[in-house]
Amino acid sequence: TKWVYSFGDGSAEGSAADRNLLGGKGANLAEMCSLGLPVPPGFTITTEFCTWHYANGRAYPDELKQQVTAALVGIGEITGRSFGDPSNLLLVSVRSGARASMPGMMDTVLNLGLNDETVDAMARESGDARFAYDSYRRFIQMYSDVVLGVDHGYFEEILEDEKAGLGVELDTEITADQWQQVIQLYKDKVEEELGQPFPQDPNEQLWGAIGAVFSSWMNHRATTYRRLHDIPASWGTAVNVQAMVFGNMGDTSATGVAFTRNPSTGEKQLYGEFLVNAQGEDVVAGIRTPQNLTEAARIEAGSDKPSMEKVMPEAYAAFVAVADRLEQHYRDMQDLEFTIERGKLWMLQTRSGKRTAKAALKIAVDMAAEGLISTEEAVLRIDPASLDQLLHPTIDPKAERNIIGMGLPASPGAATGEIVFSSDEAEEMRAQNRKAILVRIETSPEDIHGMHAAEGILTTRGGMTSHAAVVARGMGKPCVSGAGTLRVDYRNATLTAMGQVFRKGDIITIDGASGQVLKGTVPMLQPELSGDFASIMEWADAARRMKVRANAETPADARMARSFGAEGIGLCRTEHMFFDDERIVAVREMILSDAEADRRAALAKLLPMQRSDFAELFEIMAGLPVTIRLLDPPLHEFLPKSDEEIDEVARGMNISADKLRQRTEALHEFNPMLGHRGCRLAVSYPEIAEMQARAIFEAAIDAGQSTGKPIVPEIMVPLVGLLKELDYVKARIDEVAQAVMAERGVQLDYLVGTMIELPRAAIRAHVIAEAAEFFSFGTNDLTQTTFGISRDDASSFLETYRQKGIIEKDPFISLDIDGVGELVRMAAEKGRTARPDIKLGICGEHGGDPSSITFCEEVGLDYVSCSPFRVPIARLAAAQAAI
Ligand code: ADP
Ligand code: MG
Ligand code: MG
Repeated sequence: TKWVYSFGDGSAEGSAADRNLLGGKGANLAEMCSLGLPVPPGFTITTEFCTWHYANGRAYPDELKQQVTAALVGIGEITGRSFGDPSNLLLVSVRSGARASMPGMMDTVLNLGLNDETVDAMARESGDARFAYDSYRRFIQMYSDVVLGVDHGYFEEILEDEKAGLGVELDTEITADQWQQVIQLYKDKVEEELGQPFPQDPNEQLWGAIGAVFSSWMNHRATTYRRLHDIPASWGTAVNVQAMVFGNMGDTSATGVAFTRNPSTGEKQLYGEFLVNAQGEDVVAGIRTPQNLTEAARIEAGSDKPSMEKVMPEAYAAFVAVADRLEQHYRDMQDLEFTIERGKLWMLQTRSGKRTAKAALKIAVDMAAEGLISTEEAVLRIDPASLDQLLHPTIDPKAERNIIGMGLPASPGAATGEIVFSSDEAEEMRAQNRKAILVRIETSPEDIHGMHAAEGILTTRGGMTSHAAVVARGMGKPCVSGAGTLRVDYRNATLTAMGQVFRKGDIITIDGASGQVLKGTVPMLQPELSGDFASIMEWADAARRMKVRANAETPADARMARSFGAEGIGLCRTEHMFFDDERIVAVREMILSDAEADRRAALAKLLPMQRSDFAELFEIMAGLPVTIRLLDPPLHEFLPKSDEEIDEVARGMNISADKLRQRTEALHEFNPMLGHRGCRLAVSYPEIAEMQARAIFEAAIDAGQSTGKPIVPEIMVPLVGLLKELDYVKARIDEVAQAVMAERGVQLDYLVGTMIELPRAAIRAHVIAEAAEFFSFGTNDLTQTTFGISRDDASSFLETYRQKGIIEKDPFISLDIDGVGELVRMAAEKGRTARPDIKLGICGEHGGDPSSITFCEEVGLDYVSCSPFRVPIARLAAAQAAI
């Protein structure tokens, strides 16, 4: 088996396409070599060997040893040196490199091959003893730490003591003799810790380092990281062994890192740092303050340390040329690592650079404008989920932060406001046009109105999937959850944070992107929806097939949805319109009446309110489709709970509180999720559906006249399992339609359809499609009913399932393609067979989840519908799915 791939001197056995085999680092080193760029020669041991090694009792077969020895000879031929030969010393680095860059893997070991004998040879040959001993002490420290497991803290202590004794501050001030002393202390320490001396044999050193890389693939940090990022253990890591070049050979040598464009703004400018007379990780380790690469950046930073452009103009020019070449070649922003040895440039790494969401947009748009990539490629370059960061106000990065606590970044965006401790207070503030932050130990469904009214939500308990977090994300409200160091005292209305006491009305700021809680107001940056964002969205819209609608019922949400580009409403949940203070009384009267006549009287009070709600939605959507769902939840959700509320309703209805309590108890259900809800309500109480249908039709006619755009309402019947259920409700709706048209003397087009949210409905979709003019997949309920898992109770065990590897993702967040998805696919096909022009959409949480959207495209749905804040994400994901 070929386990070793060499690169160097303008050619390589592998290339960038071999990422899986050679790891990201090895594949790109090979590619750079083939491009003729200056790369120290080396070789890569493949990820396949890593897998073989673990499958075969961690063995190192002779075949591998022979290939490594041959490859080392190859490096020697290119460099004119020989590994382990003091008269002509070849030193190497040993670097790990998986397919995806992975923290937790073994750190790089530099200067491998040095020992007490070869270091003297190196000092003689280079004519620079300080350089030789500096390299050796680095090697002993790195190798002892990462291969032998001797804590690097010991070495740092020794060095600190030594520097203090010598009265010097910088490592670069230490002389050759002084380094020799440090080296002796280091070696003594290793022997003391391990009971044996530091290994002197270069071959033993090499195999020790190679073995350490392969071992690190299974260490705790790496396995945890893989689990969190869904990286399979079977991928394995590669090992790169590469001839050393030296950035620590005095003032004409240096080491640095750079991005070909600014990774936080996306600006097209080389961006990076370097250090003169330094090696490897010194730049990132912060041992000395690094210097800017370019003069422009130095001036902007106001630094008095000269730039590379200034002090090494030739090497700088060479580097700029290489950076340009690599960006053109890879057609993406690159993250580069390089070293200058006595004025000569060497490239040590290139990869696509990580960037902020904002930079990603700018880079993609700029590269499309430069002709480097197509607009479709630009669309594919943006992670849809990352747009979330851009759609909310954020704290100005230059702002001073007075942090008083830390929680989970539960819902992005930043918000400032006065502290309130209850949802009612939040509403009062809202009514006075004041901004509130709702501070609760935790929130419950009763806090929805307060969460709506507040600018942001802060809880001291609960995780990323707590009620507060989930609801806030749906509303697009900033939220910090589980800020455990804060104390909320409802009785005294105080928030205690780091010994400071805050009261109602005191101003705080929360940052839902970082989880920070800050004192006072903090300067913010408003979301930038024009410019690059608009360009990407425009290109995405041109590329996508599916429409994107929003789930919205309030005028504010509908307007927001339109401003984010929604092409209609896919789900208007009418029950959300019933919670209003004024309406809830009429709703309760309706529910609690024994007789149909009383119910109709109560419904008559609701009719004008519903009509104006719908008219406003139709006006805002101006002719775009609007799907309105008939009342869905079990009625007891609207019931009065506290004694005060019960008394109030009883007085209004002119009955005794006891009678009311009895009626309330009669409505109790053991399993409301599977109880008296959805179309079952319309079957039991058709007058409710009739009132809603009337409100919809009258509003459609009114809004059609006021906007001059014909409005075609789509009425959706929830929780249908039987054709006859739909037939029954549809007949009521049709009757009302005829009546309203006759009364108004106008014609009106409308559609009646159903949600597919029960397995039976999916199985019988071809039959249900006889009556349904559209299907909307209600994947929240369909997931609940397919799995037989209650969404409200699932969080306690689904996380355990995920940790134990039984499920990969929460099926309520990302559609379970194999199971629930199969039902969706089947129902879509059956529906189309029975009614070829049937409209198909999805309106569960999944409508805003990129991987679920990819599936919807595959099945050929006509649209996805999601919460307003996710509309841009869905537009982009739908485009990516179509490209
Ligand atoms: P990481 O994956 O943590 O970036 P690397 O393997 O890239 O680790 O090594 C870190 C640094 O070590 C490189 O950026 C480079 O500065 C230095 N380095 C690695 N190999 C060599 C080498 N052969 N010659 C000189 N410096 C090297
Ligand atoms: Mg690196
Ligand atoms: Mg449902």
